Amino acid sequence: MGQIFEFIADAALEVLDDYYTECHVCNSTGVDLYTYQGKLMLEDGTVDDDIYAVCADCIKTQPLIPSGEWAYSQTIRDYLTAQQTTPQAYDALLQKLLKQYRQTPQLPLFLQYDDRPLCCNTLTEFTGYPADEKELFHITENNTYWEKQVAEKSEYMDFRKYGLPEGERDIAAFRCPACNKAYFTFQFT
Ligand SMILES: [Zn+2]
Ligand SMILES: [Zn+2]
Repeated sequence: MGQIFEFIADAALEVLDDYYTECHVCNSTGVDLYTYQGKLMLEDGTVDDDIYAVCADCIKTQPLIPSGEWAYSQTIRDYLTAQQTTPQAYDALLQKLLKQYRQTPQLPLFLQYDDRPLCCNTLTEFTGYPADEKELFHITENNTYWEKQVAEKSEYMDFRKYGLPEGERDIAAFRCPACNKAYFTFQFT
C-alpha cells in the first residue's frame, strides 16, 4: 500500500506541476498538491465547489466530495448488493468505501467516469499505467477486467491482434490490498 495514500502505490503517485501553487482547501503553499476535483462541505452549510488541487493532509482529513461520487457511489452500491450482506453490514461497508474513495486523489485519471475496482470489501490500490507494450500485454492478458464490476473483456481488448490503445493512459492497473488479486480498467476518450 502507498505510504502517502493507501490506495495509490507510491510509484504511481503524481504530484501536480506548478500551475497550482496552493492547496484549495487550506491555502498552504510549498506543499505537494494532488489532483482532486470536487467540493468542500463547509461548516456553515455552504459548499465550495472550486476545488482542483489539494494537499495530502486535507484529502485525508477534510470533508471533501469528489465530483465523480454520484456515479461511483452507484458502482459501490451494486458491488455491495452482489455481496448479499445484511442491511447493517451494507450500510457500514457503504460508508467505509465512500470514505476510502473520498480520501484518495483522482489517480488514475479516468477519462469517462470514476471506476476504481472493488474487491474484498475494499477499494483496490492503483499500481500504475503500463510503462511499455510488454507490460500492457501482461496487464491486459493476466489481470481481471473491471468495468463497474468484474466484466468480460471485449475481443477488441486483444491488443496484440487489434493494436495498442490510442492513449498511453487508457489502461490502469490495480491490486487488492487484501487478496492481492490484480485488476485493470480500460477507458478511452
Ligand atoms: Zn491543504
Ligand atoms: Zn481482494
